[in-house]
Amino acid sequence: MSEATDRAKVHQAYRFALEPTPAQERALRSHAGASRFAWNWGLARCRERYEAEGKWYSGIDLHKLWNAEKKADPALAWWSENSKCAYQEAFRDLDRALRDFVKSRSGQRKGKRLGFPRFKKRGKSRDSFRFSVGPMRCAGSTVTLPKVGTVTTHESTRKLARRLEAGTARILSSTVSRVAQRWFVSFTVEVDRAVSGHVRAGTAIGVDLGVRTLLTGVDDAGNVVAIGGPKPLRVALRKLRRASRAHSRKAEGSANRRNASAQLARIHARVANVRADALHKATTDLAKRYATVVAEDLNVTGMVRNRSLARAIVDQGFGEARRMLGYKTTWNGGQLIVADRWFPSSKTCSACGAAKAKLSLSERVFCCESCGHREDRDVNAARNLLKLAASGAESLNACGGHVRPGGAGQRLLKQEPGTAHAGETGTAAPQGAAAEAA
Ligand SMILES: [Zn+2]
Repeated sequence: MSEATDRAKVHQAYRFALEPTPAQERALRSHAGASRFAWNWGLARCRERYEAEGKWYSGIDLHKLWNAEKKADPALAWWSENSKCAYQEAFRDLDRALRDFVKSRSGQRKGKRLGFPRFKKRGKSRDSFRFSVGPMRCAGSTVTLPKVGTVTTHESTRKLARRLEAGTARILSSTVSRVAQRWFVSFTVEVDRAVSGHVRAGTAIGVDLGVRTLLTGVDDAGNVVAIGGPKPLRVALRKLRRASRAHSRKAEGSANRRNASAQLARIHARVANVRADALHKATTDLAKRYATVVAEDLNVTGMVRNRSLARAIVDQGFGEARRMLGYKTTWNGGQLIVADRWFPSSKTCSACGAAKAKLSLSERVFCCESCGHREDRDVNAARNLLKLAASGAESLNACGGHVRPGGAGQRLLKQEPGTAHAGETGTAAPQGAAAEAA
């Protein structure tokens, strides 16, 4: 929190929508197919071994097996059309999925219980693959990928290109995926950036991430900051509900159903985009103004089970907002304190400290049975979170280790990679701008 400017290496994602030529699109599809094939090929071998010996093949072992078989089996002669990364990275993902499965079963992994990895079906599973080596560049309005070549992007890549040119960024890997008929590339980039310490020391804000409002905060001066969903988000959400209803009315397997699915996916992408943009603006602002931001920890893996589409987006937004606050506070020389998942921020009275046994999501106003305090539920929750900043601030270090002060129910967020989206649909303002401005 000093005035001095330090430099730090952070991981950041840059995502661009692609405008491939028909030949390039074929190459993208081919890689996605190769990646899916490799996953299924590896899974068949791992499953067999797992059933017999309780072990599987590591990503490296699978790669060795694959290298031997692809040359021996003429039916696999097409392998050389794709970058070796398509196979290698699928094997790595499979290895990770198997490790997660075992950890989840033994209780070492929190959240929803994971089943044994499944085979990927064409058209059912998400088209995606990753490059970790080979030429990965971008310039102006293009990106260059191994085997695929130089592809035009929907939006400008200048910001990243400039960083690459100046030597302050390095592309570590690129993930290509298809969302609703549109291809995207997401570069994971190591960025060397200035961490400026211009936030005012001692300032703090408690932040409640909401369902109705995007974010509600109460700061140490008593100001209430409420950021509701922007109008474009409300409009997009309304469209999403309509499309979702239309989709469910169409007969299973019909052409109408397929069209409705595509439409739904497009609106879904748009909503997520608009929401991420609003979150970027809000979190950038908070991280610039406050030395300490306190937010709740959320059981994001546990929440994804939720069926409703709109609700799923909100859940996604919780994780995103927390992650954004994490890296943006670091960039600005501040810190993020994450309240323990079990900290009852919404059920506790911010005036007298009495805790309620139950508080349903529909109760928008908190009414205390002990002292009669009445307040908007989100504001009450934010006040409780703010108290955490004052209670244990000295015992936290500023560089981001895990700290558990005795019983205070909080920890400092570990540094997580930042994300600067570059806009998903092209109709919203480029989100990279919001993140980059931080
Ligand atoms: Zn009370």
